[in-house]
Amino acid sequence: MNPQRRQAYLLAMGLETWQRRAAPGVRQVPVTPPPREVPPAAPDPSRAPEIPVAELDWPALQARVAACRRCELHRGRTQTVFGVGNPDADLMVVGEAPGADEDRLGEPFVGRAGQLLTAMLRAIGLQRTDVYIANILKCRPPGNRNPTLEEAAACQPFLERQIALIRPKLILSVGAVSAHNLLGTEESVGKLRRRVHHYGAAAVPVLVTYHPAYLLRRPEEKAKAWEDLQQAVRLLR
Ligand code: URA
Repeated sequence: MNPQRRQAYLLAMGLETWQRRAAPGVRQVPVTPPPREVPPAAPDPSRAPEIPVAELDWPALQARVAACRRCELHRGRTQTVFGVGNPDADLMVVGEAPGADEDRLGEPFVGRAGQLLTAMLRAIGLQRTDVYIANILKCRPPGNRNPTLEEAAACQPFLERQIALIRPKLILSVGAVSAHNLLGTEESVGKLRRRVHHYGAAAVPVLVTYHPAYLLRRPEEKAKAWEDLQQAVRLLR
């Protein structure tokens, strides 16, 4: 019987195949090569599981934001705008999103609206360095349009972590975009102001007031913003 056919029959019957022994003096060549030793894989840091944003410390949070590509806004940004000020602040100001000036300089509220915010803070005896200033979004939306729901949701863990690390006594939410995202409501700023709201599991008190960019367009509303700042002062005492 031809040896291949014989092998096939034996295999089909579940019998071990055999091989002719080498002639004396002839080195037998192993039929299958011995398994190659695989060296243990070196740990690859790029494949290590990512630490959740809620567990990051300041430097790691800042680095995570700087490298963020969670939404399409990363394509158009000059840089991310993380936040600025005192990480132990009693008062945290939360705005909407960086504009052109903020995108260029990497700091929130540095344009015209920012100058008004700085003046508003000074009016209640605070320097920018006394408070912490951040935005709902860390990247500039094109043409300064409002953030989409997806963009705000993608960025939300970063602000949440900033608030958890700062543990402010009070958040001053400026403008509708800030208030709607922090408080999960669609009520107007006019209706939300003068009440104390609360943010997150730690129930951080939140006051809502007009956005300085709105006050630049409607200076007659500045008196109301002043009342809101006075309420903030009382809550911070
Ligand atoms: N408007 C905002 O809401 N944030 C900024 O940083 C600048 C303008």
